Amino acid sequence: MEPKYPYDLEELKQIEKLLEKVPVYQKKIAELSAEIKELSRQAVEAGAFSDIQKIDKLITKAFYIDCENRSFNTSDSDTIARLLAEIAWHGEIKNRNIPCEICGENRSTDRCHIIPSKLGGTAQENNILILCPTHHRLFDRFMLSKAEWTIIDWDRKSKISKKYAYSVTLEAHRVFWDKMKNNGEPEKIREYEVNEKSFIGHVIEEISSLFIKGRAVKAESVYQMLDKNIVEISKKVIRQLIDRGFLKQIKAENHNMLVLGVEKLEVSDELVLRIWQQVG
Ligand SMILES: [Zn+2]
Repeated sequence: MEPKYPYDLEELKQIEKLLEKVPVYQKKIAELSAEIKELSRQAVEAGAFSDIQKIDKLITKAFYIDCENRSFNTSDSDTIARLLAEIAWHGEIKNRNIPCEICGENRSTDRCHIIPSKLGGTAQENNILILCPTHHRLFDRFMLSKAEWTIIDWDRKSKISKKYAYSVTLEAHRVFWDKMKNNGEPEKIREYEVNEKSFIGHVIEEISSLFIKGRAVKAESVYQMLDKNIVEISKKVIRQLIDRGFLKQIKAENHNMLVLGVEKLEVSDELVLRIWQQVG
C-alpha cells in the first residue's frame, strides 16, 4: 500500500523520484563498475592502486546513500549490501517506514502479533501485521470495523496465522459487530468471549497428521515439521496427549521418541477445552 502520510513530504518525494530511477542507476553502476574495474586492473598492473573492490564499493555507496528516509551509517557495508539485494530482488527498497496495513499511516507503526505471543506466536514477518498505534489497539481489542478488517491481506501471512485470524480474531470481531448492531454503539468484548478452541482443534489435527499408528518418530522431527508459530502450543498439546495415553513417550538412543497409540486422534471437545484452559 502507498504510504498515506509520509514522514516528511519533501523527503518522500525525493525518495520516490530516486526509486523511479533505480533501474537507470543500476545500469549506470554496472557500466561504471565495469569501466572502473577495467581501469583499476590496468592501474594495478601499473602499480598505482591495490584494491579494486574498495573502489567498486565507493561507487555503489555514492549512489545508494540517500535512498532511505532514515539516517544510515555510511561506513556500514552490510546496509549497502542489503539495499542492493532488496533492489535486485524486489525492484524497490523494503523496510522504509512500512505503512499501516489498514490506513497507510507510516509516521509511527507497530509490529503486532497475529497468533499472540502468549500462545507462542513468533515475531517472524509472516505472523506480524504492521499497524499504526490506533489500528493496533483496535485490532487487539477486536474493535476494527468490517471495512478495516477486509482491507488486510491475509494471504501475505503464514497459513497458520491466517487460520488463527479467521478462526479466532475474526470470530471475536463478529461478536463485537453484533454488539454494535444491537446496542448501536461500540462495546468492548470480554476476554471469555474470545474463543480459541477451534484453533486448538486445528493444532491437534496438524500434530495428528505427522503420525502413523505404531511408528515411533523423534519428538524433535515433529517440532521441526510444525510451523514455528505453533511449536509452543504444540508442546502443551503433546503433553496432554501423552497424559491421556494417546501418545507414548519412549527413549531410543538418547532421542525422545513419540508413538501414536490410537488409530486416529479424536479431537474431542473435552480435550480441546482442557488445553484451552491451560494456555489461557
Ligand atoms: Zn492504521
